[in-house]
Amino acid sequence: MHAAQQRVAQALARCREVYPTLPAPKVWFDLKGASAGQAHLGRGGLRFNPVLLSDNRDAYFDEVIPHEMAHWLVFHLANGTRLKPHGREWQAVMRDLFGLVPKVTHRFDTQRSQPRPYRYECGCQTHCFTARRHALVVKGRRYRCRHCDQTLVYSAFENP
Ligand SMILES: [Zn+2]
Ligand SMILES: [Zn+2]
Repeated sequence: MHAAQQRVAQALARCREVYPTLPAPKVWFDLKGASAGQAHLGRGGLRFNPVLLSDNRDAYFDEVIPHEMAHWLVFHLANGTRLKPHGREWQAVMRDLFGLVPKVTHRFDTQRSQPRPYRYECGCQTHCFTARRHALVVKGRRYRCRHCDQTLVYSAFENP
């Protein structure tokens, strides 16, 4: 995490070239599941997913950390005005300040950060559920297959 903190500090320094009074964000490594990072103006900081970070170090250093820092900067530049999260301003920061292509989505392998060991069957395939989704089924929620429209039925627990 130390190296990631340093990368955040570096990205912050870059932002301060255009906004010298930009406050330093707090940094948490507490995100779970498929989410790579989040910028929270209300909580005053940036959140990152520690499992995805350790599995995708280069992508974090090259893209995810600048991506969230760009949100942080735009939040403050906008000074309370609600802008589109990945709108013109954010794209300009990504491009002009960080020299990056302003892409929005990442394609990380989330098998470790978001395991799906619960197997469900329909009429056409096997579906893999997370523990959270499986718990919803146990509480009575029903899911249908988008292809065959049958209700999914729990069949097995299978860790990869
Ligand atoms: Zn974003
Ligand atoms: Zn189906």
